[in-house]
Amino acid sequence: MPTIRQYLTPYNHNKGRRGQAIKYIVVHYTAGSMRAYPAALRNCKFFASANRNASAHYFIDEGDTIYQSVLDEDTAWSVGAKKYVHLECRNYNSISIEVCSDGMFSEKEIVNLRWLVKKLQKKYGIPDDHVIRHFDVTGKSCPAYYVDGKRWHQLRERIFSNVSEKLDWQHKDGNTYLYIDGKLYKGERLVNAGDHVTRQFFDLKDGHLLKGKPFTEVKIYVDEWGAHHEVLVD
Ligand SMILES: [Zn+2]
Repeated sequence: MPTIRQYLTPYNHNKGRRGQAIKYIVVHYTAGSMRAYPAALRNCKFFASANRNASAHYFIDEGDTIYQSVLDEDTAWSVGAKKYVHLECRNYNSISIEVCSDGMFSEKEIVNLRWLVKKLQKKYGIPDDHVIRHFDVTGKSCPAYYVDGKRWHQLRERIFSNVSEKLDWQHKDGNTYLYIDGKLYKGERLVNAGDHVTRQFFDLKDGHLLKGKPFTEVKIYVDEWGAHHEVLVD
């Protein structure tokens, strides 16, 4: 389970929320260069060290610590714009979460995001349809990879599914398995098939295979000249 640590910025936020309730959770990505772990802390330090004309409440990366830059009770400068696409969501009634990523969120980032979103939803009584993208508020391409409706839908399924946040990678006999909540979720295993070795990938959710395909196989073999080959098998 992730931990939340505060590294608050003295800049770029407003005290309080004009007496308004928190109604929305807005998901962003940082793009830019500060993506590698410990990106969440580095981003917090960046925003706390000078006037950046922007801010966000939380930063998520690959680690187990989520960093908070602006208190929930205060207004971050995250979704302000001259023109809005969204009728109601504004800085003063939303909490902004930045995922330190330049594109597709990693498995760990999604697990952290889901944990934080669920926690905030429960705390402030925010319904699923009020968990939105920066894109939905202003039309900005943020988070860029999830501006695509299908990808956003898939991410939302991960966030709102009942799969718990317990993430456990296990390494056995050269194989790697990912368990979520004790269930096998994703894996990679090597199968000896006579003259070659086959690598099989699993992609499971709630015990069911994702994408309707049982395995993507990679045949691995060494040819007579000693060259290493990997062949994808549908
Ligand atoms: Zn954004």
